Amino acid sequence: MTKTETDRHVTGDIKLSFEFFPPKNADMDVQLWETVEELSRWNPDFVSVTYGAGGTTKAPTLDAVRRMISSAGLSTASHLTCVDASRQEVHDVVEEFRAAGVKHFVALRGDPSTGIGTAYKPHAQGYENAAALVRGLRDIADFEVSVSAYPEKHPESENDGVDIDMLKRKADNGATRALTQFFFDNDIFERYMERVTKAGITIPVVPGIMPIQNLTLLKRFAARCGTSVPAFLDERFAGVDEDPIERAKVAADVAAEQIIDLRRRGINEFHLYTMNRAPLVNAVLESVGFRDLRRSAA
Ligand code: FAD
Repeated sequence: MTKTETDRHVTGDIKLSFEFFPPKNADMDVQLWETVEELSRWNPDFVSVTYGAGGTTKAPTLDAVRRMISSAGLSTASHLTCVDASRQEVHDVVEEFRAAGVKHFVALRGDPSTGIGTAYKPHAQGYENAAALVRGLRDIADFEVSVSAYPEKHPESENDGVDIDMLKRKADNGATRALTQFFFDNDIFERYMERVTKAGITIPVVPGIMPIQNLTLLKRFAARCGTSVPAFLDERFAGVDEDPIERAKVAADVAAEQIIDLRRRGINEFHLYTMNRAPLVNAVLESVGFRDLRRSAA
C-alpha cells in the first residue's frame, strides 16, 4: 500500500474513548446499542455515559453502564454530578454503580438546576464543587477518576487562572485524567496545555472531539458551553446544508483534520463525543487512518 499522509497516524499508541448519553425512549435505546456495538470495534480504551445533573438520568445511566460492562465487555466510566445532592446521596449512587462493576467515574459538579447562567449553589450537605467530589470518590475507593477541563475556560470562571486553579485542585485531590470540553481551534488547546503544564498539572488532559452533525445546532450548543466556533467552519459547511452526504463528508474531514493536527502536536489520546451515532465517528476515524485499532481489521 502506498504510504499516505494519514497512514503516518496509524500507530499502536493511540487511545480512544467514546462518550454516550443514556437513551430517553425505546428508539433511542436501539440506536445507542447499535452505536455501541459498531464503535466497540475501535477497541476504545474506555467508554463513558453521561449523568443528568441532579440525578435526573440515574436509572438509564446505570442501565446503560451495566450493559456496557456486562454485555459489551467495555471498560466503562459513569459520569457523576454532585449538584443538588447531599454527600450521602452521592455515596449511595456511587455504591449502586460500584455494584454494577463501575471502577471509573467522570466526576463533575454539574450545571445549576435553576438553569445555565444562574448562580451555582452547592447543596448544604453536599460537595461544593467537582474538586471536593473527586476527593470524596477517592476516599471511598481507589476509583479511576476523570474530570472536566475547559480550554476556552468554563463560562462561570472569571478568568483563565481561576479555571486552571480548579483543574489543579481536581488533580491534587486525586483525579487521574481530564477530558476537555470540545473545541475546534487547536492553537487554543495548545496554549491551554502550556498553562496546564506551567501550573504543575501532570495528569493527562485528553482533547474532546465533537464531530459536527449539524453546524446550526452545534453553534447554539457551543454558545452555552463557551466554545468558540471559528469562521472556517462556516466556509467548510457552506452550500452543503441540503446535501446530507456532502455534509457528512465535510464533517468527517473537519474532525479528522483536527485529530491529525493534534497528532502532529504530540497528542495520542482522544475523547469523542459520539452523540450516540456511529457513522460519522467511523468516518472520522477511518479518515484519520486509525484502521489498525479495529478488532475486526483483516
Ligand atoms: P468544576 O470543575 O467544579 O468547575 C468548572 C469551572 O467553573 C471551574 O473552572 C471553576 O473555576 C468554575 N466555577 C465553578 N463553580 C463556580 C462558581 N460558583 N463561581 C465561579 N466559577 C465557578 N454535565 C452533566 O450534567 N452531566 C454530565 O455527564 C456531564 N459530562 C461532562 C463531561 C465533560 C468532559 C465536560 C467537559 C462537561 C460535562 N458536563 C456534564 C458539563 C458540566 O457539568 C458543566 O460544565 C458544569 O457547569 C461544571 O461542572 P464541572 O465539573 O466542570 O465543574
